[in-house]
Amino acid sequence: MDFVFLRTYRGPLKAVILDWAGTTIDFGSLAPVAVFLQLFERHGVPVSKEDVRSGMGLMKKEHLWTILNRPQVAQAWQEVKGSPPSEADVESLFAEFTTMQIGVLRQYTIPIRGLSETVSDLRRRKLKIGSTTGYLREMMEVVLPEAKKHGYAPDALVCPDEVPAGRPYPWMIYQNLIQLQVYPAEAVVKVGDTLPDIEEGLNAGLWTVGLALSGNLLGLSETEMAALSAEELAAKRETIAKQLYQSGAHYVIDGIWDLPPVLDEIQQRLARGERP
Ligand SMILES: [Mg+2]
Repeated sequence: MDFVFLRTYRGPLKAVILDWAGTTIDFGSLAPVAVFLQLFERHGVPVSKEDVRSGMGLMKKEHLWTILNRPQVAQAWQEVKGSPPSEADVESLFAEFTTMQIGVLRQYTIPIRGLSETVSDLRRRKLKIGSTTGYLREMMEVVLPEAKKHGYAPDALVCPDEVPAGRPYPWMIYQNLIQLQVYPAEAVVKVGDTLPDIEEGLNAGLWTVGLALSGNLLGLSETEMAALSAEELAAKRETIAKQLYQSGAHYVIDGIWDLPPVLDEIQQRLARGERP
């Protein structure tokens, strides 16, 4: 055949899939950092904040492996423990991490500014709200009711331990779409603060929006961010935006508060027959 017909979706956006820490709650994605630092300190193995932040967005056991595989950490572990980390070490570290993380999570459930306005906007647009995370279900059992007390309750939540694998695989998103009864993928937007968030969205065939300032890549509390000069902040924002675009993000915004205009743009692109 010399010509083929292409079917394109030109309908409305139907849902957004939001990440949790660094996207909707916990500005700067601080909770896991504090706990990982404390965990390695207990074991006498020095790690930096940068080591810890390198695995953010992944399921927490993968995150742990990412930290342990950093060259300086691997070397320090070898020196302190006398051998490289084994599967059994990681299992026991992970169990310890989980208990510690659950113990402090409640303190890190404050909604990021602009969340409630953005959620109202999404509701006005009749969009469903799904969510994915690097936290296990038992961690989210702490987060979910606290977030709800603060006024945030998405329509669906899927955790990495409920599917074959967490990010960057698309399974958590697929499970959200089933729960929300939403299709096609072109009608859905993923929003998150890490590179694995973007990859997850792209792997699922979604539009993707990366967050430059509220999450892990800047990695600062709002107070720490406010202490930066305008030039410093602009320079950091540029570096982070570049990372997010290079991993394939369709859009990069500062935080969830800037989402609505991006949705307008995506809607126009859909109407023109564009796809993610
Ligand atoms: Mg996050």
